[in-house]
Amino acid sequence: MISEEEALERILEAVQPLPARKLSISKSLGCFAAEDYLARLPLPAFDNSAMDGYAVVASSCRKGQRLRVIGEQPAGRDKQLCVSRGEAIRIFTGAPVPRGADAIVMQEDVTRDGNEIVANTDVEAGEFVRRRGCDLAEGQRILPKGERIYAARTALLASQGFAEVTVGGEVNAAILSTGDELVDPGEKIEPGQIYDSNSLLLDASLQRCGTVVNSVEHCRDERESLMKAVKRAIKTHILIISGGVSVGERDLVKGVLRDLGAKIDIWRVAIKPGKPFLFAKIGECAVFGLPGNPVSAFVTFLQFLRPAILKMMGATNLDLPKVPAKLTLELTNDSDRPHYIRGKIEHGNFTPTGLQESHALFGLSQSNALLRLAVGQSLKADEIVDVQIWD
Ligand code: AMP
Ligand code: MG
Repeated sequence: MISEEEALERILEAVQPLPARKLSISKSLGCFAAEDYLARLPLPAFDNSAMDGYAVVASSCRKGQRLRVIGEQPAGRDKQLCVSRGEAIRIFTGAPVPRGADAIVMQEDVTRDGNEIVANTDVEAGEFVRRRGCDLAEGQRILPKGERIYAARTALLASQGFAEVTVGGEVNAAILSTGDELVDPGEKIEPGQIYDSNSLLLDASLQRCGTVVNSVEHCRDERESLMKAVKRAIKTHILIISGGVSVGERDLVKGVLRDLGAKIDIWRVAIKPGKPFLFAKIGECAVFGLPGNPVSAFVTFLQFLRPAILKMMGATNLDLPKVPAKLTLELTNDSDRPHYIRGKIEHGNFTPTGLQESHALFGLSQSNALLRLAVGQSLKADEIVDVQIWD
């Protein structure tokens, strides 16, 4: 049995970033930038009005004063207008500020009287003018290499005129759930059988990471069919096998992988839940054998598979996000492995959810965070702890 740290190190050594590709920005959500992106334009690109109103010389726009309206500047085309003291130019939000103007008076703050306006308030220089470059300077880094592209970042790239973005490679995965007891949801269930929930758990978790799931198959605990199923599935970058990696006679995965010439790099890791975790390579395919118990499958997915996938996708930060929280009750780990407690973070408090056992799917479904308790660690109620959250 090896430590989690060693397991992760070995896995990350065995997988490499996939070749980068160019994508339309509309297709890039969730991908990682494969190069640094710098601003081509300042934001705003020109001084413009923050309001519908009148462009004026602030010092000539005092409460009660009359100003002559000499033109109109809409958004979309700079009419190169010029304004002097005692004058105003009708202007709309986003329109370029005319030369000579140093402020915008809101239309709500004036009374229009034919070709004139009467100011109902004093105006300060700079009021409601959005200055060129006040948000973003030209040349400023807008998206560092290895960072994930979120909705607002696609918008920022678009604001700079980028139509395409170079991102890390796409990871393809196959899922193989093993077990004679498994039945697909929707089918009739016999006594002793259970519904296959891991296929869904893994499919959803992979998709959430940005992986393309090519196939989801179920296989009985039978050597020949397992062998065939694995052979079919290893054309992808990663194969995730659920169940059959433990020590029982019906746990056939390790033997089958070995017979297929796999290099089994890891089997059994000091982690709770998830001890029977397996990692192997068959040719270029990285094979992850996750224990069948749903909580074990999920925890090992987050600790070992997610970082591997992110590395392949070109991410810089492979860690789960961590946030501080106040523990609501006392916890002790008297097992021989680090224990990942499933719990809920709410209003800054972390409370374990449901039964903390590897089969307890309901408790997992109520959780949104994991607290790692080291071997022998005791925590008191009200202590501030760092918990991992997932995407
Ligand atoms: P195994 O790792 O195959 O020994 O399975 C451990 C436990 O997980 C057993 O109770 C299995 O019935 C359960 N299990 C295995 N595969 C799945 C699955 N796909 N969905 C839900 N539970 C499963
Ligand atoms: Mg099994």
